[in-house]
Amino acid sequence: MADTTSKRVLILGGGFAGLEAAETLEKIFAEKDDVEITLVSKDNYLVFTSMLAEVVSSSIEAKHVVIPLRECLKRATFKELEVQSLDLKKKVVGCYHFHTCETFDLEYDYLILAMGSITGYHNITGAEEYSFPLKNLADAMVLRSHIIDMFERADLEQDPDVRKRLLTFAVVGGGYTGIEVAAELNDFVSFSKRYYKHVKADEVKVIVVDPGDRIMHEMSEGLAEYGLKLLKKRGMEFRLQTRVAGVTADSVEIQDGDKIETHTAIWAAGTAPQPVIAALPIADKHGRIEVNEYMEVADYPGVWALGDCALIPDPHSGKPYPPTAQHAIREGARVGHNVAAAIREKDDEKRPFVFQTQGMLAPLGHKSAVADIKGIKFSGFFAWLMWRAIYLGKLPGWDRKIRVSIDWFLDMFLPKDIIQLKFLMKGRQSPPKDDAS
Ligand SMILES: Cc1cc2nc3c(=O)[nH]c(=O)nc-3n(C[C@H](O)[C@H](O)[C@H](O)COP(=O)(O)OP(=O)(O)OC[C@H]3O[C@@H](n4cnc5c(N)ncnc54)[C@H](O)[C@@H]3O)c2cc1C
Repeated sequence: MADTTSKRVLILGGGFAGLEAAETLEKIFAEKDDVEITLVSKDNYLVFTSMLAEVVSSSIEAKHVVIPLRECLKRATFKELEVQSLDLKKKVVGCYHFHTCETFDLEYDYLILAMGSITGYHNITGAEEYSFPLKNLADAMVLRSHIIDMFERADLEQDPDVRKRLLTFAVVGGGYTGIEVAAELNDFVSFSKRYYKHVKADEVKVIVVDPGDRIMHEMSEGLAEYGLKLLKKRGMEFRLQTRVAGVTADSVEIQDGDKIETHTAIWAAGTAPQPVIAALPIADKHGRIEVNEYMEVADYPGVWALGDCALIPDPHSGKPYPPTAQHAIREGARVGHNVAAAIREKDDEKRPFVFQTQGMLAPLGHKSAVADIKGIKFSGFFAWLMWRAIYLGKLPGWDRKIRVSIDWFLDMFLPKDIIQLKFLMKGRQSPPKDDAS
């Protein structure tokens, strides 16, 4: 029988928001055994998404941008499980193990929902099937292997049209994530082509497609313009005010009937809610959970939501806070304190979430970046140095900081790794049959 005097806090999602909430609660209840903290996540690591693009370009070793959750947690229990259902009335979360499919019902007294979001394909035909998302470690590794495969195939190909299609890389979405990926990709393909004797420099192209009239709409117009000019100078192509109508195995189709012939469409065009969250009665029509300024869910005392899966009101703008890691981390810390106040039954210790965006930084490849820190704008090499210093500082754990610093150092002097990991490739075809046999 469960100990009725103990309090069970269940945190769902081991990303920026969930981990920070768990760590905050651990610190507050370090000396108290009667508060049980459990973190459930489908992977046993946190993905430092800001550096994923550098995994694609081989600047950072894949495992160095993820942080094992068990290493971060001192007192909380970690369970590697996938959440399948939530019964907020009975206070039970249904989970299963990804490999054995064994199911587990977890009960709670306090629930923290921090399951983030998934890639949003906006019902565009073929997008989910044929494009490459970039949301987690597996996505980055699969994409990297696919890009190298395109070069290997292009090197064997005689037909210049087919070669061109293999060497065209389209990035759908010109927000800062799309631009970060496109710029890293451009560096990688510019570097890689030297190893392929039959690949001509002018056959390799990175194209960014976006429906807006400018790139990086999250940043000021001046910085976005700077980025656009710089990347164009490096040979990248931009199709702005252009909507994608569909994606196939060999093209990105544009709404006006035009198409980009490519086998590589990288999808950086937004997010969608986690299906398990969207199915809840507390989710709004877009699948996110509206909470109050304390991040509490109305009508369900003891339930909190934060990070990308929640809509948290910003008292200054009246709009919800943006879904970024810098917000998710602060929200996690605040929720930790507010949940602790609820456990101690000290309502006056609860505080609303108030945070002002510290700034935005976007790396543009080739040791350049743009940055807007509290309204002060930087660009070029200095902004790139700032990007590296700030993000290295944010990367949790000293061991990861050291590993990434070494990767960056070596990347300045050593050639990029173009080893193709075939086991990560999708859809291998059978070899031709030998007719003579
Ligand atoms: C490529 C890329 C680059 C980015 N760059 C930046 C940047 O430079 N700066 C910035 O501020 N933001 C950046 N972001 C946005 C940032 O990553 C998100 O805003 C942030 O991760 C949100 O944190 P979260 O904790 O809400 O969700 P997440 O970090 O996504 O964590 C959600 C967690 O829930 C787990 N989970 C999901 N579903 C289930 C389930 N059913 N069962 C169990 N566990 C589940 C996941 O495994 C994950 O651990 C970037 C995003 C991407 C994709």
